[in-house]
Amino acid sequence: MKFVDEYRHSTLLKNQLAELRRGITQRWVIMDVCGGQTHSLLRHGLEEALDDVLELAHGPGCPVCVTPAEVIDDAVKLAKRPDVVLASFGDMLRVPGHTGSLLQARAAGAEVRTVYSPVDALQLAAKEPHKQIVFFGVGFETTAPATALAVLQARQLKLRNFSLLVHHVRVEPAMRAVIQLPDNRVQGFLAAGHVCTVTGFAHYRKFVDEFQVPVVVTGFEPSDLLAGLTECVRLLELRKPQLRNQYERAARPEGNVHAQHLIDEVYAVATIPWRGFGEIPDGGLVLRSQLSDFDARRRFGIIASPSSSDGECRSVDVMAGRIKPPDCPLFGNRCTPDMPVGAPMVSSEGACAAYFSYARPFERNHE
Ligand code: SF4
Repeated sequence: MKFVDEYRHSTLLKNQLAELRRGITQRWVIMDVCGGQTHSLLRHGLEEALDDVLELAHGPGCPVCVTPAEVIDDAVKLAKRPDVVLASFGDMLRVPGHTGSLLQARAAGAEVRTVYSPVDALQLAAKEPHKQIVFFGVGFETTAPATALAVLQARQLKLRNFSLLVHHVRVEPAMRAVIQLPDNRVQGFLAAGHVCTVTGFAHYRKFVDEFQVPVVVTGFEPSDLLAGLTECVRLLELRKPQLRNQYERAARPEGNVHAQHLIDEVYAVATIPWRGFGEIPDGGLVLRSQLSDFDARRRFGIIASPSSSDGECRSVDVMAGRIKPPDCPLFGNRCTPDMPVGAPMVSSEGACAAYFSYARPFERNHE
């Protein structure tokens, strides 16, 4: 397939792997902060192929995984109202909160629907004016513009039966949270290429200067990931903490200015809770006060649920790079994609689901 095969060709990947291995003198710890990259590294056997020379950590880059259980609880509360239809992405329905998941709420009679975009939820509101449609939106800066567009359209159309429960999060503050952990071991970062297509990547210069770690903007295909890792290793070996872009075909320093304006118009940057990490300064986006009529919690008088621990799930240790998913005692026995205990086993971008589904040798994919 054009624009895919050329980034997955076996000979190219084998050459890239050989080049990467040649340049390594110590087992550096490099973190991706993107569920798509995590899955690609596992699916294509790259983690396995590099494990003896490089430690790959998979940070808090899966939006479903970092949505706190108490926010799921608020979504369940909303869904249980007889006048509300709760609409969200499929993965969100399966994530357990403290009071169960949205799927369980649906089984108990709540009206919960799967949608593929916030615009689908908006169309639902236009079609079913006698019902209150609440869109439960999560995600990084990549999905925030679509939610922003939906709420602006709802205001323009004067739709009184559409509102939002949002938990949009920002990548760079999460990287700050990881690197400032007292037991941090991460020495270099791959920055998520698709997020950089929206936000740009110039802002990482400050991060690099402040924490003296290399950051390499990287794509998702296996050859992109190997190029990003090779550059990150090169900078680490040279002791040169610098910012590089290995995803030039899509990411620009300034990003997508139109999408950034949409985000600025609709959201304010705020300190919000992340699952496992607690409150992250500037870690999220909340609706601006002039759009508070569209805030579902406010409209329905939902008092934000209190936070509490994730019990036996060790997702924060996985996302902080302390352990790999198979090190969690529940992995593959009490916690599987069919019976998930924690969000990283539910989500199509979660690290635990990636290990469960794909952990296999490079050769099996690239014979
Ligand atoms: Fe949590 Fe399950 Fe992953 Fe363990 S295997 S960290 S319980 S999601």
